[in-house]
Amino acid sequence: MPQLRREKGQQGNHQVRKRAITSPAQELIERIAERKRETGAVILAHNYQPPGIQDIADHLGDSLDLSRLAQRIPERVIIFCGVLFMAETAAILSPGKTVILPEPSAGCPMADMITPEDLASLKQRHPAAEIVMYVNSTAEVKALTDICCTSANAAKVIESIPEDREIIFGPDRFLGGWVSARTGRDLILWNGYCPSHQKILPEQIQKLKRQYPDAKVMVHPEVPPAVAAEADAVLGTGGMLRFAGESESNTFIIGTETGMVYRLEKEYPGKTFIPASPHAICPNMKKISLEKILASLETLSPAVTVAAETAERARGAIRRMIEIG
Ligand code: SF4
Repeated sequence: MPQLRREKGQQGNHQVRKRAITSPAQELIERIAERKRETGAVILAHNYQPPGIQDIADHLGDSLDLSRLAQRIPERVIIFCGVLFMAETAAILSPGKTVILPEPSAGCPMADMITPEDLASLKQRHPAAEIVMYVNSTAEVKALTDICCTSANAAKVIESIPEDREIIFGPDRFLGGWVSARTGRDLILWNGYCPSHQKILPEQIQKLKRQYPDAKVMVHPEVPPAVAAEADAVLGTGGMLRFAGESESNTFIIGTETGMVYRLEKEYPGKTFIPASPHAICPNMKKISLEKILASLETLSPAVTVAAETAERARGAIRRMIEIG
């Protein structure tokens, strides 16, 4: 019967079809695909990006995945949908490529919580210390760093340093505290934090656990310790994807930026993912839009550049992070 009605209302259906074909979002997506073909560009997107961007990205991943990929892929133009430190890291690792951040003001407040001057003065007080910086840091800070780490490999990085060495760790005090507890190493911690992960509260997780007693709780190491204490697993976003796939559980409470919920749903449509807090939104991660991606592809700008000397010094610390894996 519904089919008969469709045939009778040909005119109406025609209009519906026409509207679908010419919808502005669809036109935008087609134009992006066309410009990608013309320019040979590739779109990389972080797991926290908005759904519309995750849907059109060529590759999705966490900071470490995307840094490695940027180096490995043959494309010479990279549209990086994430925040500035990620695009800088890609540019540092791939000096011959054009790395474009479609919204240049998409920064990371945590990365800006430690300046090169802050780090230099800390190093002066601890001259023998090894400097480990979370990849969520500026290129200038990385240039003063011995080895970078991601949330996925922070423990391995700390374990790679001789036990008798002092270690300065920044900028995230929560990731640092979590790694210190895991490795049993004392760290000289910088006092930075992620404002979006700080919005996740232990009471919110406790309430959801009562509501979904069979759910597994995964949280990111950027959350405060009282939140991490509620979790079954403390993982970076790549680790969360693996954990959700390997777990027999069908329901998960997700303690990280809410974009990750969409990423997990895309990967495992049969499972249920509940954000620990609807307020854990990174406003910087949401600054990029399809319109801005198209504008970047039309103009091949704004490209992220890092001064040659800074890039040279930062590259060693980033490469060491990648080698540890
Ligand atoms: S989620 Fe936090 S750490 Fe990540 S980019 Fe946003 S502010 Fe920075």
